[in-house]
Amino acid sequence: MNVADSQRVCSSLERLGYQATSHAAEANVIVLNTCVVRQSAEDKAVGRLFSLRPLKKQNPDLVINLMGCMVGVKGAEQLRRRFPFVDVFSPPSDPGPLVAHLTQDESRAQEQAETEQRFALMDGDLILPAAQRGHLISAHVPVVLGCSHACTFCIIPYRRGVERSRPVGDILREVRSLVNQGVKEITLLGQIVDRYGKEYPDGPDLAALLRLVCQIEGLERVRFLTSHPNWMTEALLDVVAELPKVMPHIEVPVQAGDDQVLANMHRGYTAEDYRRLVGRIRERLNGYFPGVSIATDVIVGFPGETRRQYQNTYDLLADLQLDVAHLARYSPRPGTVAERRMADDVPEEEKWERFRALEALQEDIAGRINASYQGQTVPVLFEEAVRGRWKGRTSTNKLVFVESDRPLQGQVLPVTITWTGPWSMQGRLPLSEVQPGFLQTPGSAG
Ligand code: SF4
Repeated sequence: MNVADSQRVCSSLERLGYQATSHAAEANVIVLNTCVVRQSAEDKAVGRLFSLRPLKKQNPDLVINLMGCMVGVKGAEQLRRRFPFVDVFSPPSDPGPLVAHLTQDESRAQEQAETEQRFALMDGDLILPAAQRGHLISAHVPVVLGCSHACTFCIIPYRRGVERSRPVGDILREVRSLVNQGVKEITLLGQIVDRYGKEYPDGPDLAALLRLVCQIEGLERVRFLTSHPNWMTEALLDVVAELPKVMPHIEVPVQAGDDQVLANMHRGYTAEDYRRLVGRIRERLNGYFPGVSIATDVIVGFPGETRRQYQNTYDLLADLQLDVAHLARYSPRPGTVAERRMADDVPEEEKWERFRALEALQEDIAGRINASYQGQTVPVLFEEAVRGRWKGRTSTNKLVFVESDRPLQGQVLPVTITWTGPWSMQGRLPLSEVQPGFLQTPGSAG
């Protein structure tokens, strides 16, 4: 979500005549787009902010803009007192306050034009920053903003506001605009993306939105994240199964494998519900080689989590053999229900131990799943060259590196996998490179 927001800010600034620089000391405007989902992310943002203070001292005209979840949607009074050297505070997804600040000395007419431009940007006519135009292959498009679920550990509803879906016309315009600028893969974003359109009973849901997005010519691949176990519908799985452009990769966090912990987190499902969901996804999407990929999120050391309860999470991951598990150690986020009402009583060392054990388990699982790609030929969308090799992704979102002198950016090509590890793979292009009729449809690979 922050990557998409940063692109929006960058585009707004370019429209005002600014250019990107890679040296903070040369900048007239510095935007710090923040994430506070974990305490470590917030600490990092604060550290970075203080590191900018000497630049402001050297150059009082420098404009520093603090943006994103650290500011939230409820105003920035406390932050203003804590960081008096910051000029502008902006909530997530809104370049408006910065644009307004930078144009405040100009005539009213210009300001009006800026406001219109700003709404155009917010409403879907996203122009990529110059450095990314024609180079960015994979882009993110927010479709659901905010979240109203209120899991007890989560700060997002407080910072990104209540859930609201963007109008379908704006989303399609934004996707078309990105595709015209060279983007080949779009990821539709939402904190609970499968709740898209819930507030408009007669409008499209996520499944219908995906069908519309897939009709856009020139777009090769579509993904969506993040799903919630309670909102994954049959219609959505049908779309993934039926439409070749929708990739067989599902991000659906479980957070814990113990029913009591899940209830304390206020997640709204049991471990058994999650097991059934994974079974349903695998059954419906069984046409793909070597199977649909499923990613999850897990928090260890939630308040009150006993060794036994943690073991249930471990056992669930061991049983389900998911492709990816994003792991986190619980840290209390100020203002959340967990922080106010539950003691952070799992010792730090114990949290680390649980984290490391799950990490080792998942490394082993991912290594084995990826090893099943060895020797197989799979379609890869190439994104960019990294240290002399081309980096791309399979339809199942696995990272693949290939050596080639040819420019591969933006192409979907068959790759024969020659080496696999838990986090990435290496492959080679077949001699003919592009085989006629090579499609990224179920059962096409291998
Ligand atoms: S559903 Fe996700 S974003 Fe919403 S409160 Fe729960 S963890 Fe946070």
